[in-house]
Amino acid sequence: MDNTLTARLIDAVASRIIAHAGELTTLDQAIGDGDHGLNMKRGFEAVLAKRDEIAAKPPAEALKAIGMELVMKVGGASGPLYGSLFMGLGKGLAEPIDRESALAAFEVGIAEVEKRGKSTTGQKTMLDVLVPVVGVVRSGGDFAAIRKAAADAAAATAPMLATRGRASFLKERSVGHMDPGARSSQLIIEAVCDVLEGKA
Ligand code: ADP
Ligand code: MG
Repeated sequence: MDNTLTARLIDAVASRIIAHAGELTTLDQAIGDGDHGLNMKRGFEAVLAKRDEIAAKPPAEALKAIGMELVMKVGGASGPLYGSLFMGLGKGLAEPIDRESALAAFEVGIAEVEKRGKSTTGQKTMLDVLVPVVGVVRSGGDFAAIRKAAADAAAATAPMLATRGRASFLKERSVGHMDPGARSSQLIIEAVCDVLEGKA
């Protein structure tokens, strides 16, 4: 992974999140407090502003720097959670970077989210996208399979009952709406696939 690739990944992920901020806000208005889009936009705008500085670092350090930026700028529940994800990715990423090391990093990132959120799958959160996707990566799925798993998993949060985060306060009324964090995780995964497949 060279610095150019890191910069392209930052551009792709940040622009995807920023372009979908309105949609994320609408989702969070249904089952939360309506700030997820703005939270994520603020965080990724801050990452984008430091893109060149971050991209000059080795990949593991770049991921940790992104995580720190997200913790400081996103706020809400998702700031520390996405911060933990990216810091975990950086902590888990070993050189040389290949499919195995990326998978190991992804697993550490998820473990950090679970630890920080005291959460697991089935609770209608971002983990309901991240965990199935890592399963597809682990079983050797290609980019199309990864994209499909992320889209299906985000959609599958709609009928779930939320038992973590703000949406859990709504109990049964949380059913019938896609989880905003699940959708933002799907968007991030799609943007990463776009770059790695040479589409962005
Ligand atoms: P807040 O809930 O503080 O307003 P956001 O709206 O930015 O923060 O983020 C909400 C998203 O955070 C949820 O849609 C969910 O995916 C995720 N989330 C909330 N709590 C947890 C948790 N304990 N574990 C994992 N993800 C969580
Ligand atoms: Mg919110």
